[in-house]
Amino acid sequence: MNSEHIFYVIIGILTAQFTFDQWLDFLNNRKVVTSIPTELEGIYDEEKYKKQQNYKKANYSFGLLSEVVSFLVIMIVLFNEGFAILNSWIVDFTSNLTLQSLLFFAIIGIASSLISLPFSIYGTFVIEERFGFNKITPKIFVLDMIKSMLLSVLIGGPLMALVIWLYNIAGSYFWLYAWMVISGFAIFMTMFCTSLILPLFNKQTPLENGELRDAIEAFSVKAGFKLDNVFVMDGSKRSTKANAFFSGLGSRKRIVLYDTLINDLQTDEIVAVLAHEIGHYKLKHTLWGTLTGVLQMGVILFVFGLIVGSPLLSQALGVHVPNFHIGILAFGILYTPVSFVAGIFMTILSRKNEYAADAYACKFELGNALIGGLKTISSNALSNLTPHPFYVFFHYSHPPLLQRIKAIKNIK
Ligand SMILES: [Zn+2]
Repeated sequence: MNSEHIFYVIIGILTAQFTFDQWLDFLNNRKVVTSIPTELEGIYDEEKYKKQQNYKKANYSFGLLSEVVSFLVIMIVLFNEGFAILNSWIVDFTSNLTLQSLLFFAIIGIASSLISLPFSIYGTFVIEERFGFNKITPKIFVLDMIKSMLLSVLIGGPLMALVIWLYNIAGSYFWLYAWMVISGFAIFMTMFCTSLILPLFNKQTPLENGELRDAIEAFSVKAGFKLDNVFVMDGSKRSTKANAFFSGLGSRKRIVLYDTLINDLQTDEIVAVLAHEIGHYKLKHTLWGTLTGVLQMGVILFVFGLIVGSPLLSQALGVHVPNFHIGILAFGILYTPVSFVAGIFMTILSRKNEYAADAYACKFELGNALIGGLKTISSNALSNLTPHPFYVFFHYSHPPLLQRIKAIKNIK
């Protein structure tokens, strides 16, 4: 096998992934259901169903356009040895290896943000706006962008610099050191993201006194979860869509309810959603998710450590002296099929966890309330009630509404 073969393997992998994704999107978009299943009757009236279908179509065409553009861009760059050209500029600019890799990723990061920016603007201010979801003002949109960029520079930059520095000094144990650093960082972020990073974007406040707080307090006592760990977040600042999530580990655990959820749902439905989130905590889903991620990262870094020094990888992208950034880029693409399969297992596990958290809520006789809450959330978000089973299998982190309702009814 020579470097040209590897180049065509890279092209083949990217093309196969692109084609497969488009095929799934196409199947999902084409699936039209004439009769709504009885469990879901009443969620959409005729007018709202039409609106939902239009929303689905608009998102499909928009997604197709954006994916075709990014696929074409990467193909043009690869066939013109764009990464090699960028690399030679950077090598001429500085001889510091760590700085070379940092500059390389920074330039690629900026370029890909510039390419995705018009799509992000269109998606938010045209599509989401047209269907009445968007609440972001241009000012918040720009501020969000600046904050995210600063975070990548201030947090991502030093972390990456440390890993690259380790690569340049640690030799064959690089993977082990990098694994320790990255795992430590991942565990820290899992614990502190909601208390340190999220406040830069959203305000989180304790529950206000009143009927809802009383109901949630009564339930928290029953479930053995401290009320201090429940927060309300101003999700309505960006979108009308409702949500709730559990995050953190140990003492840093926290359940966040969007204010939109509190506005849209009845009290008992909110309690049921909260019970579902407490279920994720009691069943240790975040802990297992973090550990699985850490293990996966170990495997990736080990394999990466074995092959990154091979000049074939760099030569496949037109670079003759191997270096960290070209190696990781080629490796990242070659690894896609493995991460694709790993991703399938992760989504299966995630859907299993959702069923388990629903079942936890059912233990407190909250099944009906949960069904009511989920129906309202889906209806207000114009969710696709009948996605294609293949699409669900590969992409859905949560089971579709119909399957969740059926599972909840089975428990009762
Ligand atoms: Zn969940």
